[in-house]
Amino acid sequence: MLNQAQQVLQETFGFPSFRQGQKEIIEKVLASKNTLGIMPTGGGKSLCYQIPALVLPGITIVISPLIALMKDQVDGLHAAGVEATYINSSLTNTELTERMENLKSGAYKLLFVAPERFESNSFLSMIQQLPISLIAFDEAHCISQWGHDFRPSYRSIITRIKQIQQETTVMALTATATKEVAEDISRLLEIEADNVVFTTFARDNLSFHVVKGENKRDFLLTYLKQRSQESGIIYASTRKEVDQIYEFLKKQSYSVAKYHAGLSEEERRHAQEQFIVDNTSIMVATNAFGMGIDKSNVRYVIHYNLPRNIESYYQEAGRAGRDGEESDCYLLFAPQDVHVHKFLIEEGQLPVEQKTNEYTRLQQMVQYCHTETCLHQYFLTYFGDHAQLEACGKCTNCMDNRERVDITTEAQMIFSCVKRMDEKFGVTLIAQVLKGSRNKRLMELGFQRLSTYGLMRNQREKDIADLIHYLLSGDYLKLTDGQYPVVQLAPKAIGILKGEEKVYKKMTVMKEAPSEDNLALFESLRELRKEIADGEGVPPYIVFSDASLKEMSRYYPTDEITMLKIKGVGKAKFERYGLAFIEAIQKYVEQHDITPTSQPTNHLTNSSSSTKVIEDLDGKPSHIYTYDLYQNGMTIDEIAKQRGVTAVTVQKHIIRSVQEGHSISYEDIFNEQEEKMILEARDQSDENRLKPIKEALPETISYFMIQMVLLKNGYLK
Ligand code: ADP
Ligand code: MG
Ligand code: ZN
Repeated sequence: MLNQAQQVLQETFGFPSFRQGQKEIIEKVLASKNTLGIMPTGGGKSLCYQIPALVLPGITIVISPLIALMKDQVDGLHAAGVEATYINSSLTNTELTERMENLKSGAYKLLFVAPERFESNSFLSMIQQLPISLIAFDEAHCISQWGHDFRPSYRSIITRIKQIQQETTVMALTATATKEVAEDISRLLEIEADNVVFTTFARDNLSFHVVKGENKRDFLLTYLKQRSQESGIIYASTRKEVDQIYEFLKKQSYSVAKYHAGLSEEERRHAQEQFIVDNTSIMVATNAFGMGIDKSNVRYVIHYNLPRNIESYYQEAGRAGRDGEESDCYLLFAPQDVHVHKFLIEEGQLPVEQKTNEYTRLQQMVQYCHTETCLHQYFLTYFGDHAQLEACGKCTNCMDNRERVDITTEAQMIFSCVKRMDEKFGVTLIAQVLKGSRNKRLMELGFQRLSTYGLMRNQREKDIADLIHYLLSGDYLKLTDGQYPVVQLAPKAIGILKGEEKVYKKMTVMKEAPSEDNLALFESLRELRKEIADGEGVPPYIVFSDASLKEMSRYYPTDEITMLKIKGVGKAKFERYGLAFIEAIQKYVEQHDITPTSQPTNHLTNSSSSTKVIEDLDGKPSHIYTYDLYQNGMTIDEIAKQRGVTAVTVQKHIIRSVQEGHSISYEDIFNEQEEKMILEARDQSDENRLKPIKEALPETISYFMIQMVLLKNGYLK
């Protein structure tokens, strides 16, 4: 029979030889063994059931969750001269009866069905009468609750199938290779361990990259500029984000289509077709796009947001380079995406046990973004594919030529802080303690009295958190499972704490100097800092870091509002040192006749003082005039355009009007979920400043939304 299979491969499908795993899987199926085939996306799973279907005497039923693609699959088979059909909810009754009749008369070798079909008794009794040789579960991970796409309807098929009194072979195919999923599938479908065929997960033609700390849109523009003629997919996590990226790229005249569940079926179909036939080169989509799509020349897949686990990521990224040509997979990492996922898991309807599982898998995804070992190897290790564990030589980490810096001291600080906090708290709080944050929860727990409090105060909280993640990915620390994972010391930390071993991390060694024209100011601010520090008997960096002084000498803050926008200048520090520095800067500015240009970060504080009030617009103050236009249904952009001001000014006007007691319908500005997220971010952040809140939230949440939420909840007086 294997000879026959070989013949079908060549004559019907036109391929000279089997790919890895195909032959073995087909062999077992032809020998009537229940078989599980685990192959990466693009590995060639379809042939594993298509060929037996043609070799075996009876009919092969293929169960697939991809209703939308069944027609394409069947069309593809027809083109190869294979008799196949599908039955799903898209058929009319006449079509259904006709196909059932044809099935009985033996007109088809393959029948594709959606899992729901098995709930129908008439369907079941119909197939009872057919000679069924093989039942194939495509995307079989949907059977398992440990899979990343569990579908109860899929699982319930199994009991129904057992009612079919025939000698039918069962096979399952999936790209998900975790042990739990494989075991679950094997148990449910009665597949012996010997009949689980696992091919390598290595996709040698893909280069994996993680991009951290870069502006995502800038990255897109730079990357796409070199790729404008090629096909690629950009995945984003929400419909809104898809819409925004789509608009953004369209404005830049890229050939782009979009796909998400909020579009009509017709729109989606059109977008997909245009992409598949190369009429549009870029597809911006949520993860609703791509399952089962066989476009071989996708040259890159960019994840604009963090995927929720490694399986999903590898599957989605794996849509690049099915043709075996070199292709790129980029993941644009931003820590706030982690919060969004946690939020979604928390709000989701999953049972507790599965939620815990989801959190763990999310954590593994985060670790992927922080590891310094070969990314390709990370996947292979994750999927338990230990066959060829060589570094790929082309991923972000293999290409990272930065210096290895000794971070043993920082690691020790972190470890001892973890210990002092009794190994009972998460990454954020540990970073806040080391930073010396005045976060409310931290103070309530009394952590400001720990000896490790403020030990790393000259680093950014985010960088400390990154370092903790790095130590987690290096197995120096470990995380407990669940919604609020707690950081604990792992055995590897002991040697470091004892000073017996060292930890290294690749880093760019900062040699940045302020630009020449304000070097003089920088120097005089340093002198001032030294004076203050000596007077207080503390090291200079306790007063302000170099980075803060550099920002000051770049932006010339001369009042409280602008000074508070400087990195590293919080309320407390401002109260202690702010005025002295403002005076120094003021003096410098006057002496050199400088007009401060741009601000480090804009529209952070609600300073109506900086808004010029032009009276007499219909006799109204300017902001009320704006407010009235807004209440009359004009959008912020429209008002900005009409009045020749920026959108930010319009927003300030609206905020001021509301502060003065005018009413507004908040639900036009943010929804309940957004409000909840913003309030949560506020609770976790240091002070009532907007920037840290903004940074902790997805890009789609604007400063204006944050301000309005704070206003509504009485935090912005
Ligand atoms: P999967 O379902 O595993 O993601 P597919 O079955 O869709 O992958 O196959 C991916 C691509 O590989 C298809 O274009 C298919 O035609 C091609 N392919 C499969 N098997 C072979 C083979 N033996 N030789 C050459 N190409 C193959
Ligand atoms: Mg497939
Ligand atoms: Zn590598």
